[in-house]
Amino acid sequence: MRVRAFIGMGSNMGDRRAHCDAAQARLGRLPETEVLGVSPLVETQPAEGVAGGPFLNGVAELATALSPRRLLRELQAIEEALGRPPDHAPGTARTIDLDILLYGDRVVREVGLDIPHPRLPQRRFVLEPLVSLAPNVRHPVLDLSAMDMLRRLEAAVAPHPVSDTP
Ligand code: AMP
Repeated sequence: MRVRAFIGMGSNMGDRRAHCDAAQARLGRLPETEVLGVSPLVETQPAEGVAGGPFLNGVAELATALSPRRLLRELQAIEEALGRPPDHAPGTARTIDLDILLYGDRVVREVGLDIPHPRLPQRRFVLEPLVSLAPNVRHPVLDLSAMDMLRRLEAAVAPHPVSDTP
């Protein structure tokens, strides 16, 4: 049975668009997997203290029969093929970063694999492209749609209104 999975991708090193295009092409060649759609790529400033210049970020929607663990291994092989070493130091610039954001309504909490991706609700650079692709897809733990998560994040970071009482 095929599951609808969402993959976050980002690049902030070298030819960012070429890396994202190549990652999409390789996702389309995975066994038992079809790319159902890809969001527009958006330029974002590095977040969470990651070094380097601005990112291009996007999200791909897959229908896949690969298990979550096998899918992660395939994503890591794509990262490696596109110039990201497996021992890539956290927080450094990367040619490509691929994350499993959602895998149907499965919840996986294992060593080295967390689905839904734990930082999904806090990452505007992922939620914006996810919303443009699938605004109604639901987070199975929070029971919120992608659109709800983005609205919640925007409300949380919005400046508090200035009170006009002294
Ligand atoms: P990063 O450098 O942020 O791409 O983190 C890569 C590490 O996160 C890998 O060692 C993965 O095992 C781990 N990881 C845990 N959950 C996920 C997920 N949902 N998608 C991708 N990588 C994950």
